[in-house]
Amino acid sequence: STLTTPSSETFQLHRTDAPVPDEQRAAALASPQFGTVFTDHMARISWTHTDGWTGRRVEKYGPLQLDPATAVLHYGQEIFEGLKAYAHPDGSVWSFRPEANAARFTRSARRLALPELPEADFLGAIRALVEVDRAWVPTGEEASLYLRPFMYASEPFLGVRASLEAEFLVIASPVGPYFPGGVQPVAIWVSREYHRAGAGGTGAAKCGGNYAASLLPQQEAYAKGFEQVCFLDDRTGTQLEELGGMNVVVVHADGSVVTPAVSGTILEGVTRSSILTLLQEAGHEVAERPVLLDELRRGLADGSVSEVFACGTAAVMTPIGRLASDDFDLVVGDGQAGPVTMRIREQLTDIQYGRAADTHGWMRRL
Ligand code: PMP
Repeated sequence: STLTTPSSETFQLHRTDAPVPDEQRAAALASPQFGTVFTDHMARISWTHTDGWTGRRVEKYGPLQLDPATAVLHYGQEIFEGLKAYAHPDGSVWSFRPEANAARFTRSARRLALPELPEADFLGAIRALVEVDRAWVPTGEEASLYLRPFMYASEPFLGVRASLEAEFLVIASPVGPYFPGGVQPVAIWVSREYHRAGAGGTGAAKCGGNYAASLLPQQEAYAKGFEQVCFLDDRTGTQLEELGGMNVVVVHADGSVVTPAVSGTILEGVTRSSILTLLQEAGHEVAERPVLLDELRRGLADGSVSEVFACGTAAVMTPIGRLASDDFDLVVGDGQAGPVTMRIREQLTDIQYGRAADTHGWMRRL
């Protein structure tokens, strides 16, 4: 059978003959462990230099067979995205600003010399997968179906040049609330030793290599008792950039808000941009500019900085309760989640889960 998405691209459906049994799926949905359980199917499109994008299909979720010489295994030519499908109270399923993820995927593809996937195919693949695996969208509070589109260089060739073949897939994994026991502040280690990105590098792209490079700093911070790492710019080591997987925002006691500008070394978060809009609408003065670590340290010490939070698709907004490095250790506010963070977080999740009107036109029905 076939699935025709609103983009009018047709995905051939090759339904699995061995879906996860209903009781097992219900158990997985009742207590989803992020990234461990996947839905019955995956969406897929193949690309070759000569034929372009072909073979739009939804097929059984399962292992990929790769030639040991497949380019991605050697040179890391790979990109990905992350977004969620949310069940609304009336049973409909929606995603949040997926065009923004599609556009970022295109920018990432350009930087990694991968083929650009048309937005209609990015959205069409998500729609086709969610249509087939709709029973996998959790309905619990702050639960969702995490969608992971990705593309890799699939040509079996060891030469160091852009692959002439690529595969695009979307897989999906049910996720529960990020903070099951209520929103908890995290402790952040500011790294002076490692940088996430450099000028002219791949910091603004969502490519696997960026995350591989963040694992060692993350491990070291964890061993010191911190949950996440905040990276500084590589040229001066004085400016905040972002965490390994989240953007960072500083709230002042006078209501003004600053966040590092997207200058090419940080990932342009969809959550970040949405939160900045909500903050502006709530009357906060919002500035995107270089944010100096010294400025933040002074603000925390004299009380002019009242809240710091991290933001991204997975956790939406995570309050930062403690910020430390080799030469300082500071509590943010009273170390608890601040009122601005919690208010905006609720506003955004209300939109995502269909509890509040989508006045910005951010939601897309799947
Ligand atoms: N920065 C990095 C490095 C990330 O991996 C992510 C997660 N995609 C973000 C920021 C937040 O982006 P978004 O709000 O689009 O999830």
